Amino acid sequence: MITVEERAAELYDVVRACRLCALAETRTNAVPGEGPLNAEIMCIGEAPGVNEDRQGRPFVGAAGNFLSELLAAAGLSREQVYICNVLKCRPPGNRDPLPGEIEACSEYLDLQLDLVEPLVVVTLGRFSMAKWFPQQAISRIHGSVKEADGRLIVPMYHPAAALHQGNLRQVLLDDFARLPDILERARAMSRGNPEPAVAPPAPAAIDFRGEPESAMMDEDVPVASSPPGAPPEAIPAPAQPPVQPAGPRPPETEQIRLFD
Ligand code: SF4
Repeated sequence: MITVEERAAELYDVVRACRLCALAETRTNAVPGEGPLNAEIMCIGEAPGVNEDRQGRPFVGAAGNFLSELLAAAGLSREQVYICNVLKCRPPGNRDPLPGEIEACSEYLDLQLDLVEPLVVVTLGRFSMAKWFPQQAISRIHGSVKEADGRLIVPMYHPAAALHQGNLRQVLLDDFARLPDILERARAMSRGNPEPAVAPPAPAAIDFRGEPESAMMDEDVPVASSPPGAPPEAIPAPAQPPVQPAGPRPPETEQIRLFD
């Protein structure tokens, strides 16, 4: 029987040889991702930058150093966390990923989620956020929590954003500081024994007044409290936004076949 390590190695080999989109023409190295395959937390960024492209590893530049600092502030080490990106190859000039590139690469991320089965997914930046929070603004929902597919999804700013906007540094530190509590809640969920959550404060400097309900409804997953010994109550799923169904595959892409 194939092990999870063998499945990951096969996936990484396929990513490194992938030519499903035009980024294969300009990359130096594809960057599949790295980290323990039994990690409880998965951090998903946007795409490799110049340093990542050179080394074939995610988050190894200045943003990576800040990510390590943020994790340390949450009492976590980088070695405890699985780290990857929406795109596995660097867009030239660090431009934004194109929709067709995201679609072409999306199955690799789905396979990584299946392999690692993290309890908590931290999306870093708006492109990974959009997988679970379509049509949302990161300035409004950063630090909030949504339950999807039995895990907790937490959108946060990309660490690189704080390198350009110094005021986001403390925002990111505050959001990461909530990770231990969020992880505890996710562990309780995975045990089928959800515990009352300590209500965290709303993200700093965010004013929800006058915003449509959908802009704030994902703040905190409703967690049912059960008396000792009683079976856990069901956790109502968030009403919206729904997980966006996968769109049609671009005609130039091929079916990614792994683990046959
Ligand atoms: S689909 Fe992903 S891995 Fe394949 S070439 Fe495009 S960005 Fe790279």
